[in-house]
Amino acid sequence: MSLIVQKYGGTSVGTIERIRNVAARAIAAHKEGHQVVVTVSAMSGETNRLVALVEAITDHYNKREYDVVVAAGEQISIGLLAIAIENQGVPARSYLGWQVRFRTDSVYSKARILEVESERILADLAKGMIVVIAGFQGIDEEGNVTTLGRGGSDTSAVALAAALKADRCDIYTDVDGVYTSDPRIVSNARRLDRISYEEMLEMASLGAKVLQIRSVELAKKYNVPLRVLSSMEEGGGTLLTEEDELMEKVIVSAITHNRDEAKITVLGVPDKPGVAATIVGALADANINVDMIIQNISASGETDMTFTVPRGDYQSALEVLDQPVKSIAAREIRGNKSIAKVSAVGVGMRSHTGVAQKMFAALSKEGINIQMISTSEIKISVILDEKYMELAVRTLHDAFELDKDAGDRVNN
Ligand code: ADP
Ligand code: ASP
Ligand code: MG
Repeated sequence: MSLIVQKYGGTSVGTIERIRNVAARAIAAHKEGHQVVVTVSAMSGETNRLVALVEAITDHYNKREYDVVVAAGEQISIGLLAIAIENQGVPARSYLGWQVRFRTDSVYSKARILEVESERILADLAKGMIVVIAGFQGIDEEGNVTTLGRGGSDTSAVALAAALKADRCDIYTDVDGVYTSDPRIVSNARRLDRISYEEMLEMASLGAKVLQIRSVELAKKYNVPLRVLSSMEEGGGTLLTEEDELMEKVIVSAITHNRDEAKITVLGVPDKPGVAATIVGALADANINVDMIIQNISASGETDMTFTVPRGDYQSALEVLDQPVKSIAAREIRGNKSIAKVSAVGVGMRSHTGVAQKMFAALSKEGINIQMISTSEIKISVILDEKYMELAVRTLHDAFELDKDAGDRVNN
């Protein structure tokens, strides 16, 4: 008998009909003789609705209370699913994050899981029940409710699979796997049968929302066999694996996009040690992640520093920086929220050259201006005006011929 963790996202539990479908799938696995633990998200649109309720009161909300509100969506979906499973004849029991417990740190709205306690779940499984667990939430050391960041149920599922030493963790969603680009933007994107953890990590961190980045990190760290598949149709989906020789031959595997960042430029920063540390340190103290950073000294000896932060943290970042920017006597601070990041990802970039050239040439042919560039071993990202984002994604998908089978691509 094997233990399977299944995770169903918001669309997959978006209506009562779909919840019945999820119940039937969980029961099918149970009837095959597996022990089944199901993690679910809130019904589609529900978390957005809860966030909007908070923001309707103020932009400067207390994050502890934000978590209390947004964690509520999953309470409804787990209860409904447990009822639907029992209605189809199998005993089921639902649990919230704090009941299981998912112990996390206290960084509200983006807490990290420290430990998942498994006793209660294992005891119910041993009694022949299907156990339904709320994704996206946990409890900190003081007993406060925490949430794991948007898309966090993926991470709940993988953490559960690791703690329960599950044989499989299957992420059921509204697409039948991981694609060469978001299929909602690129109609001829291809589904990948397999993808390396490395590439999936980059893709997730660069905006491919199909898996939350932390879930991929945990899957890699704890060797959790992870698959992404459709909750609506049958099919093998995409399996996450270690990298192999074949994967390295493909230079670019995917094009991703992210419109969740904003750009901040501090102009006229004095050219002396410590100023970058002051700026970045102030943001770190406020738990704001800085992504791309560019710093350049002009001919006059002044430095401009440009970086990106999550768009949701844009306002706080400007406020947090006000004092430090004055203290280092920088001239001015400017920001722009209408930007997007588009990236090419591929492990083959480690051993091949010319990707940047091809990427920049393709964008320039479409008249798309590049505002910032950053590279790592296996990715190249550009920041551009948000209004050109979709065009840029499609242009690059074509330029690297990602609609073709990997074996048939020219120079890629
Ligand atoms: P869920 O609610 O099931 O967690 P999400 O909306 O979080 O689903 O993630 C699935 C969505 O991710 C898809 O509908 C798709 O639009 C988007 N997506 C973005 N990039 C990719 C990609 N490369 N492959 C597959 N899906 C992608
Ligand atoms: N319901 C949460 C969200 O919308 C968690 C998730 O869907 O994974 O972000
Ligand atoms: Mg998701």
